[in-house]
Amino acid sequence: MSRQETSDAHLLSLRAVCKAFGPVAALDQVSLQVAKGEILCLLGPSGCGKSTLLRMIGGVERADDGAMELGGRPIFGPHLFVEPEDRNIGFMFQDYALFPHLTVAENVAFGLRGIGRAAKAARTAEVLDVAGVAPLADRYPHMLSGGEQQRVALARALAPRPALLLMDEPFSNLDQGLRDTVRAETLRLLRSLGTTAIIVTHDPQEALAISDRLVLLRNGRVVADDRPRQLYQYPPDLYAARFLGPGNELAASVEAGSVDTPLGRFAAPDLTEGDAVTVFFRPTALHLLPAGDGSGAVVIDSVFRGEVERLTLRLAGSSELLRIEVPPGSPPPIGAAVGLGLDPGAVRIFARDRHAKF
Ligand code: ATP
Repeated sequence: MSRQETSDAHLLSLRAVCKAFGPVAALDQVSLQVAKGEILCLLGPSGCGKSTLLRMIGGVERADDGAMELGGRPIFGPHLFVEPEDRNIGFMFQDYALFPHLTVAENVAFGLRGIGRAAKAARTAEVLDVAGVAPLADRYPHMLSGGEQQRVALARALAPRPALLLMDEPFSNLDQGLRDTVRAETLRLLRSLGTTAIIVTHDPQEALAISDRLVLLRNGRVVADDRPRQLYQYPPDLYAARFLGPGNELAASVEAGSVDTPLGRFAAPDLTEGDAVTVFFRPTALHLLPAGDGSGAVVIDSVFRGEVERLTLRLAGSSELLRIEVPPGSPPPIGAAVGLGLDPGAVRIFARDRHAKF
């Protein structure tokens, strides 16, 4: 059964949501579903509509058109707009937006409405504990580190037990060393609570690392929607392939159902004869061979990156440059002649400016 047909299994469902700011179509017919307990990343370059989509779902702004359901209940549609406070959606902002004049405990308690004092205190204590910030309960936000502020903001967003948590670039204010730790802790917490979350990021590595499902936006449109491994290995087009990570590209054309390149001939059965194509493969799809084996190449550059060596090679008899990643050790010196092999299973062929056929 397709995703569309199982819509009752989805916590959130969006159909053809549109939003324009003057002539700019910030969201153009966006449809997507989020399953209960799923962590979905919205990924795309600056200005592609990620934050706008989050704001429409949260109800802090109104979409122009389309329909949205949360937990089987319509929250937006023609003549329908459920106010943000009635959606049971939590929001965590990039800058955390903690109230500076409230303590950590007061910040977390702030969103707990409609329950008695004792219940509020108990829930606050519970969430502070779960988020690992109980010892900080009486501090004010300016007395917290960046990582602590992030955890308090997360605790505040989770306190009312939202059906859905929206997070806008929640890790981008942290420096690299801290980001990985806080990200891992956050994910552990969200998963242990079974939280359904939509996380906006412009960082493909982050989206690949944390999402169950990854939705790639471009100019307000959904251009890819799948599991991260699937998208990385089988991107639907060159845009998605390039956005998700580094790659090598060779220009070629389709002849007799296949594509000829200096690295071998690859079948392209579904492409049209004579089509101009881009042959795409990740740096890890290439491997070094002794000189004389495979395709000939010369080492042009070599950069040690800790976990890998990244080499730039020029293919023999051509001006094409290729990137390859090899385990760190003793890479061949610059100027050395090497052989190259390419894993044919890792090759994607895209018709230029059209969707992938292979
Ligand atoms: P970033 O990663 O830079 O935050 P984004 O993907 O979140 O970008 P949005 O902030 O959603 O992108 O913006 C989408 C488009 O809508 C952009 O072209 C932006 O300039 C435009 N836009 C967003 N909000 C407004 C607004 N209030 N008024 C006018 N244009 C807006």
